[in-house]
Amino acid sequence: MKVLVINAGSSSLKYQLIDMDTKELMAKGLCERIGIEGSLLKHTPAGKDAVKIEEPMPTHADAIKLVIDALVSKEHGVIADMSEIGAVGHRVVHGGEAFSSSVIITDEVKEVLKECSVLAPLHNPANLIGIEACEQAMPGVPQIGVFDTAFHQTMPPEAYTYALPYEYYEKYKVRRYGFHGTSHYYVSKRAAEMLGKPIEDLNIITCHLGNGSSLAAVKGGKCIDTSMGFTPLAGVEMGTRCGDIDPAIIPFIMEKEGITIDEMNTIMNKKSGVDGVSGISSDFRDVEAEADKGNARAKLALDIFAYTVKRYIGMYMAALGRVDAIVFTAGVGENSAEMRERIVSNLDAYGIKLDSEKNKVRGKEAIVSTDDAGVKILVVPTNEELTIAQFAKELLA
Ligand code: ADP
Repeated sequence: MKVLVINAGSSSLKYQLIDMDTKELMAKGLCERIGIEGSLLKHTPAGKDAVKIEEPMPTHADAIKLVIDALVSKEHGVIADMSEIGAVGHRVVHGGEAFSSSVIITDEVKEVLKECSVLAPLHNPANLIGIEACEQAMPGVPQIGVFDTAFHQTMPPEAYTYALPYEYYEKYKVRRYGFHGTSHYYVSKRAAEMLGKPIEDLNIITCHLGNGSSLAAVKGGKCIDTSMGFTPLAGVEMGTRCGDIDPAIIPFIMEKEGITIDEMNTIMNKKSGVDGVSGISSDFRDVEAEADKGNARAKLALDIFAYTVKRYIGMYMAALGRVDAIVFTAGVGENSAEMRERIVSNLDAYGIKLDSEKNKVRGKEAIVSTDDAGVKILVVPTNEELTIAQFAKELLA
């Protein structure tokens, strides 16, 4: 079966076509500036150079049509015709409490997704537009929704309930949801395979460290806690997001600066984190380069990042009781040996010991702890698209 995986944003749409019989990527691409002048499709057939197609894409449905044309095209296509696509898997950011696993999308599911939009106003409406565009362009092809929140639905109430008046949970569903679930699921499963042990027997801390970052405590394959919360703003310091702060800071700054709730939200989501502290960039590579030149604020931004991740590792050691493995993934986790080293430094007393030589690895699966370490440290490149395609295949089997 071939599965088309779609990740629709408000003005962009990423896709991958995966052959699930071989698990091979056949093509991937990105539509940019949907609904804006200068729309562009960048299509990359596996093993070949990217082709750029500049065509107007007033709507997501137009974008999907262009993607299909590219996939079946004589010059840079990878399939003979559309009938080869057995399913479309959609990344959906928020499934609320309604979805603890993937689902085949029906009209009822779409209604629930609309209800969840209040919880993820930037993402869910775009995901829905992507789903409806695919329904239009590919009638009869099953559409599957895979939720970023689903893996975290196994958290116990003490981990997901905020100590606010309980009625806010009852009335508005204000609780911890957690995000990056597909990634935490995939890397914890891969880690168990790499260690040659059943996941049911393992306690794992997964660290998804990219532009957005989150950690999860995974006990026997089930998430028991995660660092993102009601929204993806909570947890560790991120590229442009502040992560956990004392909530009393919010009205304090709003009053001092005379700013609105929207402005404060923008500051916390887009102008904080590594970018806000360093004043340089949200990109860890730029900030690392400046820190190396002696820039004190660049160094501080990275110190905060390493420390907040370490703090969560400590919390999850306590939550899990025993830790068998710590897994690093996503842009920073997979690529920055230096950041991995900083995060797990001085934890020898707990059996957490990195092997500096083995840690000289980028973007490849590896076990990077010392041979005698009680806690294995692993690098596992995440693959959310393959996981989405796998869920789609399993649902339709
Ligand atoms: P997103 O959350 O957007 O999916 P990614 O997981 O792709 O993000 O992570 C992007 C981040 O990873 C960027 O900040 C980038 O600087 C960082 N990154 C990528 N390669 C390296 C590297 N070699 N060293 C340090 N940081 C890196």
